Amino acid sequence: MAVETRVTAFQSAQQRFDAAAEVIGLSDDARRGLREVKRELTVHFPVRLDNGGVHVFTGWRVQHNISRGPAKGGIRYHPLVTLDLVKALAMLMTWKCAAVGLPYGGAKGAVACDPLKLSQNELEHLTRRYATEIAILLGPEKDIPAPDMGTNPQTMAWIMDTISMHSGHSVTASVTGKPVDVGGSEGRVDAPGRGATYLTLEALKYLHVEDEIPTMAVQGYGQVGRSTARLLSEAGLRVVAVSDSKGGVYNPKGLDLAALEEHRQVRGSISGFKKAENITNEELLELPVTVLVPAAVQDQITADNAAKIRARLITEGANAAIAPEADPILHEAGTFVIPDIIANAGGVIVSYFEWVQDLQAFFWEEEEINTKLHHVITRAFYEILHTSVNKRIDMRLAAYALAVQRVANATTVRGIYP
Ligand code: GLU
Repeated sequence: MAVETRVTAFQSAQQRFDAAAEVIGLSDDARRGLREVKRELTVHFPVRLDNGGVHVFTGWRVQHNISRGPAKGGIRYHPLVTLDLVKALAMLMTWKCAAVGLPYGGAKGAVACDPLKLSQNELEHLTRRYATEIAILLGPEKDIPAPDMGTNPQTMAWIMDTISMHSGHSVTASVTGKPVDVGGSEGRVDAPGRGATYLTLEALKYLHVEDEIPTMAVQGYGQVGRSTARLLSEAGLRVVAVSDSKGGVYNPKGLDLAALEEHRQVRGSISGFKKAENITNEELLELPVTVLVPAAVQDQITADNAAKIRARLITEGANAAIAPEADPILHEAGTFVIPDIIANAGGVIVSYFEWVQDLQAFFWEEEEINTKLHHVITRAFYEILHTSVNKRIDMRLAAYALAVQRVANATTVRGIYP
């Protein structure tokens, strides 16, 4: 019997890089450098729990590449995170920043923990100690964290405060995605969803979708999923299905999002919402909708279910929601994909605006932020689209080709030290 060899998250990321390197004809020397991460720091640190006991947690901060500027990327709190996954996500951040033209390299951090099982007090101690352990890498000119799965503006405020205490003064530009009260940016919370919304509307125009009211299904009702659903419904789409980790709800006539939000606030989950039928996460992905937004976790659309997807357009809200084997299946079926690398880049774009505002100590109004976000993300969309059409490759490969070329140019022109 053949032994099944599972490809790890980092190997998948490398495969995607290899495919892009092939498209742009990158030299072997350049490939060797960019296939690996630059720095990987593993930390084990104790935290005193509320019951008086001590638990030793493991965390990481990985920088993939810093040729184009400081390392940038979120911090994830999740029980199943591994160094391999953090390396893959750090590499993705390098390409994401380059794809939308931000002067950053890519990084990612994580702590293996379940934030839902920790009290606020425990989370604060864990965050401050983790920030201290990785502080040798951090700083406004070196590496700037932001929220990711399981972390939020409060987490960023604690990290900012910890770094500031070590420095003896407030270092607001040391993290992004902070609360507005401590140098955060207007519009940052909704930014990933807003970016996804702008791109979805642009793609519907490009695809000449003539549905009277385009429908959409959203998998994952976290920060990205919720704001994408709300903003696209404000733009005239009909949200027919949403789900969270416990399952989904479906109503072909459209969901009342305000009532759903009320239900979620009270019950802590969307399941059990009346005026809709219950469906599983798998069923949601296969619904006959115009737009599908997988905004939950990685590897949701795979070789097993890609052929069953009926959406005309997929806006990949969650990083790596589509597994590499699913890409060609979707491409051949004519499903248009806005890949993660640009679909959720609204977050890091407004993070960049936040960092610029902090460095200047001069703050912009939300309208200005949204206008600038629209400009940056739409320009990136058309650059990627032109590459995709000209080279006859799918949108993801086109985005990677552009991004890898930019990073390779920076690496080459800087040369090898010493
Ligand atoms: N964690 C988000 C991402 O994966 C945001 C990163 C940032 O703003 O630096 O893109």
